[in-house]
Amino acid sequence: MTVRQLAHVAVDAPLTENLTYLQNDSCPVIRGDVVDVPLGKRTVKGIVISVSESEAAAEDDAYEIKTVKAIDIEWPALTDPFLKWLEWVSDYYIYPLGRTLQLCFPPLSRPKKIRQSNRPPVVPVLEKVKLHQLTEEQKFCLEAIKKTKGFATHLVHGVTGSGKTEIYLQLFEKTLSENKRGLFLLPEISLTPQLIHRFAERFGDQIAVLHSQLTDRERTTQWWEIAEGRKKILIGARSALFCPIKDLGLIVVDEEHESSFKQDEKLKYNGRDCAIMLGRFMNCPVILGSATPSLDTWKNAVEGKYHLHQLKSRVENRPLPVIEVIDMRLEKDLEKKSAEKPFWLSQKLYNEMKVSLQKKEQVALLLNRRGMAQMVFCPGCGFSIECPNCDISLTLHGNTHMVCHYCDYHENFKTKCPDCKQSDMIVMGLGTEKVEEDLRKLFPEAKIARADRDEVQSRLDMEELVQKMENQEIDILIGTQMIAKGLDFPHLKLVGLLLADVSFNLPDFRASEKSFQLMTQMSGRSGRHVGVDDLPGKVVIQTYNTSHESVSFAQAHDYEGFVQTECIHRKQLNYPPYHKLTALRIQSLELEKTRSTAYKLARRAQAIKEKFNAFDQVEVLGPAAAPIAKLRNQFRYHVLFKCPQPQLLNQFVRKVMGDNKWIPAQVKVLVDVDPLNLL
Ligand code: ADP
Ligand code: ZN
Repeated sequence: MTVRQLAHVAVDAPLTENLTYLQNDSCPVIRGDVVDVPLGKRTVKGIVISVSESEAAAEDDAYEIKTVKAIDIEWPALTDPFLKWLEWVSDYYIYPLGRTLQLCFPPLSRPKKIRQSNRPPVVPVLEKVKLHQLTEEQKFCLEAIKKTKGFATHLVHGVTGSGKTEIYLQLFEKTLSENKRGLFLLPEISLTPQLIHRFAERFGDQIAVLHSQLTDRERTTQWWEIAEGRKKILIGARSALFCPIKDLGLIVVDEEHESSFKQDEKLKYNGRDCAIMLGRFMNCPVILGSATPSLDTWKNAVEGKYHLHQLKSRVENRPLPVIEVIDMRLEKDLEKKSAEKPFWLSQKLYNEMKVSLQKKEQVALLLNRRGMAQMVFCPGCGFSIECPNCDISLTLHGNTHMVCHYCDYHENFKTKCPDCKQSDMIVMGLGTEKVEEDLRKLFPEAKIARADRDEVQSRLDMEELVQKMENQEIDILIGTQMIAKGLDFPHLKLVGLLLADVSFNLPDFRASEKSFQLMTQMSGRSGRHVGVDDLPGKVVIQTYNTSHESVSFAQAHDYEGFVQTECIHRKQLNYPPYHKLTALRIQSLELEKTRSTAYKLARRAQAIKEKFNAFDQVEVLGPAAAPIAKLRNQFRYHVLFKCPQPQLLNQFVRKVMGDNKWIPAQVKVLVDVDPLNLL
């Protein structure tokens, strides 16, 4: 009998178990080491999870264990708390550990030498500026946060413009003074040049930035700056969580309510929740900030799991904007009288726009829809143009082509119906392009710009747009939710929400919450810099449903009123934040296969419930075709599980999935823990 030294390694493969290798005598490995190991004929990267000894009988030698090839010295080994956090992520989201660990590496190999790039720097070089004199509310909040030691979760709930970012800046200041490092997470869309600018002004060249608008080379360089400790604060979108930061002392998650913290594919993690767990493993404070916290976070705060800090007024007592709600149903009759005005514009908003433009103040209009029109159909035969790959109608862009907003399918727009070949197609609906076109006719003198995914595609586009707004080279800005978040323009004093109904009519139990958040965030862009004696900023919300609760509470700036009402509905229906949800999404190219697998899955779930009393509390919903029943040629079904206890739900999902062998070939069953997107 010989004693063999073994290493258990998580590799980049869809495996639920780690693989076992023999230690390489010339370079013994320990937990956390990044190693090269053989897998089939390939060599893959893996991370050592544990090492052990085993006494091997001679006959075992017939079963050959391969040997670890080498320690990959290019990479820093992962620290134990960081690795424990990664194990938690993999376990909680039911996703292979080896695959999870791959997120810890930058896209390219390590830069050999710094190459000159002709792109502008990722972080601008700026003169340092002094701190603001804090308001009483800011001081109170800052002191309370500073008092806690080690891990604690804080919710900073402050109205838009109350100076939350200033609090974060001062907390990071403290972290650096203690020789520790910080992580600042934001939704991609809020990672604006303005925000990076504010950090660069305060912390000079100590910051690194990671977001999707960077090239692979830029990302890789920024990654190493942090991993090797040259930069002290990492600002990034959700994936920045996976960058190993030495001596992490503070995590801030701004706009914590944003659904874009959730990744929708592969590892379907929620960056905010993972950030809280990272703080726990690293034993450092986690700050969540928002003007409109998610219901989940709010519940944790009022139940005392998080420390709650509230900022009820804007800095320098600047007034909150005045919000007016316009019933678009009543405007229909007025429409005929005023032919000059497009159907989507109320008389009130039109008048306010004229006044603003005269005063040389800026106007921003929000419409959460791109393109010219959502629906193109034939009045003769009723034919409407849908995407051949998805169960979605195509959107008209620029009067020339039709685009699928889900898979990017394009086709030319033809006026004659392609089906009956008799009538001319009718165009219905509204998008940002159409609004822009109408505005140019309505205000020929005004400088008009549009900000949506068609117009603003890179960080350079966004930087240019921000600069133009700041220099008042734009009078009217029309945009999608891209303009609702994080931007701070001193001359912007009128905001119009053209069709508030877009978000609350979605088939999603969070539709009210999302639209309340969007309305509040967008309203918050108006009049951010008006003094206490000036006229407050204005907001006009246009809707066909004035009595919708998200509208009335947004109008009253009443966050708490909104959450209380919304929580009653959620509780009645056992929805989050009261019960946990996990969605199983079944997909394949064949409808029948998809459907039968969905039914099989639901039957398995019921059988497991019957067999084990422990799962009595789990509720099984479905199977049902997903609201978007076909996407990129894949048919989609889902089954939902609800349960008050997350751990029980995790066990249940694992039991239902079993060894995956019951799933037919070519069918995929994807697990989405705490799903945000149920379409
Ligand atoms: P929030 O993040 O809550 O929306 P910000 O931190 O962006 O608010 O603050 C809004 C504006 O007020 C910014 O222009 C910021 O520089 C400024 N500001 C922040 N704190 C103060 C303060 N104590 N006194 C004066 N101005 C402040
Ligand atoms: Zn499509």
